[in-house]
Amino acid sequence: MTIDATTPRFEFRRAASVGEAVQWLATPGARVHAGGTDLVPNLRRGLERPSIVVDIGGIAGLAGIAWRDDACAIGATVTLARLAADARVASTYPALAEAAAAVGAPAHRSAGTVGGNLCADTRCVHYNQGAWWRGAVGGCLKRGGDVCHVAPQGRRCHAAFCGDLAPALIALSAELDVASYGGVRRMAAVDLYRDDGAAHLALLPGELVTAVRLPPPDGVSGYRKARVRGSIDFPLAGVAIALRVGQRSIERAIVAVTGVGPRPVVVGTEAIVGRRVDDETAALLATRVEQSVKPMRTTATPAAYRRQVAGVLAARLLRTLAA
Ligand SMILES: Cc1cc2nc3c(=O)[nH]c(=O)nc-3n(C[C@H](O)[C@H](O)[C@H](O)COP(=O)(O)OP(=O)(O)OC[C@H]3O[C@@H](n4cnc5c(N)ncnc54)[C@H](O)[C@@H]3O)c2cc1C
Ligand code: SF4
Repeated sequence: MTIDATTPRFEFRRAASVGEAVQWLATPGARVHAGGTDLVPNLRRGLERPSIVVDIGGIAGLAGIAWRDDACAIGATVTLARLAADARVASTYPALAEAAAAVGAPAHRSAGTVGGNLCADTRCVHYNQGAWWRGAVGGCLKRGGDVCHVAPQGRRCHAAFCGDLAPALIALSAELDVASYGGVRRMAAVDLYRDDGAAHLALLPGELVTAVRLPPPDGVSGYRKARVRGSIDFPLAGVAIALRVGQRSIERAIVAVTGVGPRPVVVGTEAIVGRRVDDETAALLATRVEQSVKPMRTTATPAAYRRQVAGVLAARLLRTLAA
């Protein structure tokens, strides 16, 4: 299949079952295609050069949302639009519905999937460019070069993971089902990510995320993001919080931040557990968030702003959830 003149040639196969998909994905260089809203732009820019692209959109078993009491299993190809519009998801896991509704624009949400969002590539202003642009600066560590334009003294890639769903799923203590030719394993959503912008997923070659599993909610939750263009953009920073507040004070809080590094950051909340939710506690959380995230110059927006905005989003969301 060829999408346009600059797109590499590859074989495109439509899998009818998970078994067929993982069999094909065992081929070196094979890649998954779900909604294609992240993969296809990367193919067109020559950032990906797969041998085979395996489309999983036709696998019936991956497209459902199943409930057992208040626990939920969401198939990998459920679209973000469906997730955002599902009334039971919105009332049980508000953070997840809000995160799904905040992804890109309507076209991205109607094609984009849960699995694709979790596995979307990291992003950097020096990398997500056409081949001509990248060639003019000689490539970079992530592809085609030997220097990082963000941190030229370093030897690692700082490209940022910008998926909106991941922090919500991490805050909600979700697990993932991961299938391969060798079988199925389960992993915590937080363990999907590595601190390396050039290889940020802890999936083995040929592995496919097939479902997300959520336990019953433990309190309230929410997601907020800051972006340049409110109608379409990736997060400059996105914050999810799952919160349980007792009679007088916070009993449990999980805070996760996206868009600020190669993997979502889980912020330590010991300092706010046991406290009432007031201005002082919100300011304490903002400080903890700002100390925990270390965005680099991977966007046109200054890193210091992204760090500050992450703290502000967390403080505001905490107040909103507690109210
Ligand atoms: C203009 C624009 C704006 C965007 N804004 C946002 C935004 O605000 N927030 C955001 O989160 N994203 C954004 N995106 C990125 C993208 O649209 C979403 O992340 C989307 O959810 C990706 O899902 P998909 O199904 O289209 O993934 P695909 O493009 O099909 O796949 C993405 C990656 O995941 C892999 N993959 C897909 N499914 C699986 C699976 N089940 N198991 C293992 N690997 C898999 C693919 O091989 C590929 O590497 C934007 C994209 C564009 C072009
Ligand atoms: S952070 Fe550095 S190595 Fe990574 S994509 Fe950007 S310029 Fe390239």
